[in-house]
Amino acid sequence: MSAIVSQKQSDHAAAAVVTVHALSCGHFSLPEYQFVHPVSRDARRTVPSLAFLIQHYNQSTKKRTRLVFDLGLRRDIKRYAPPIQKHVETRQPMSTDPDVTKSLAGGGLVPEDIDYVIYSHVHWDHIGEPRDFPTSNFVVGHGSLALLDGTSSSLRGGHSFFESDLLPEERTIELSEPWANVLTKHDSCRGTGDINFSGSWQTYGNLPQTLDVFNDSSLLIVNAPGHLPGHINLLARTSPDHQIYMGGDACHDRRLLTGEKTIGEWNDVHGQVCCIHADRKQAEATIDRIRGLEKEGVEIIFAHDVEWENDPKNKTRFFGAEQSVDG
Ligand SMILES: [Zn+2]
Repeated sequence: MSAIVSQKQSDHAAAAVVTVHALSCGHFSLPEYQFVHPVSRDARRTVPSLAFLIQHYNQSTKKRTRLVFDLGLRRDIKRYAPPIQKHVETRQPMSTDPDVTKSLAGGGLVPEDIDYVIYSHVHWDHIGEPRDFPTSNFVVGHGSLALLDGTSSSLRGGHSFFESDLLPEERTIELSEPWANVLTKHDSCRGTGDINFSGSWQTYGNLPQTLDVFNDSSLLIVNAPGHLPGHINLLARTSPDHQIYMGGDACHDRRLLTGEKTIGEWNDVHGQVCCIHADRKQAEATIDRIRGLEKEGVEIIFAHDVEWENDPKNKTRFFGAEQSVDG
């Protein structure tokens, strides 16, 4: 795997880059009506829960930093809280092999090699098993800790149950509020050296709030509101002329990007209108911005991006496959 990393970092002094590899972290099935409209009530599809390995090499300090974006599905679903185990019954068929640790091992890494785990958000199908990462720091968007603590307003839907003991407090960093740019708790482990999780949110192109993780524009955390409080995405520069946008759950179906479909809604047993996004209007604005990036030539990959996964040319872009993901 060292060949994969060093190959990209030998030149391009002008534009700092990171390498990005996809990590296979399980598959599950979704009823399409909960995501897109119009669609048949019976339509389902099996989608991946993708994670990504991002590696940064600082030429001057010779320091390599490894981050994983999301951990996908938990290998042992019996280790989810009972309400999530019940919800999982509606998401069958489902498979959790390989999980993130097995996918990392396929390329020769163990969890202790991962400096930071960044969560797009804290829904069950993205959190994996943080206990498998005993030395990593965890980074979550603003509002995520209140969800985990149960101190923020309740959200509808069986998928919105959160584990208060999910993350180790001493190794968890919650990003500041993107609009107010205030500091939050856990300042002590905000990262050291050339990594930065406490800087100011900045405008980048059509993205109103981004954080420059390595202060070299190679990797930006992007505020991507709408799906769940604290939902964040990543924008990675993998070569001078290629950028990858990791969109998490900003969008669950590419037909929302093309405009072929609109976001789905449904009624629960009490007649309440439900939407997979906590704030539909904000989710639509986030999708608009992603559509703009795609028009500029940025490669877009969502967490449940079955089309991206099934594209034969992406087979080698998973960690442990022969080639680097950098397109
Ligand atoms: Zn999801």
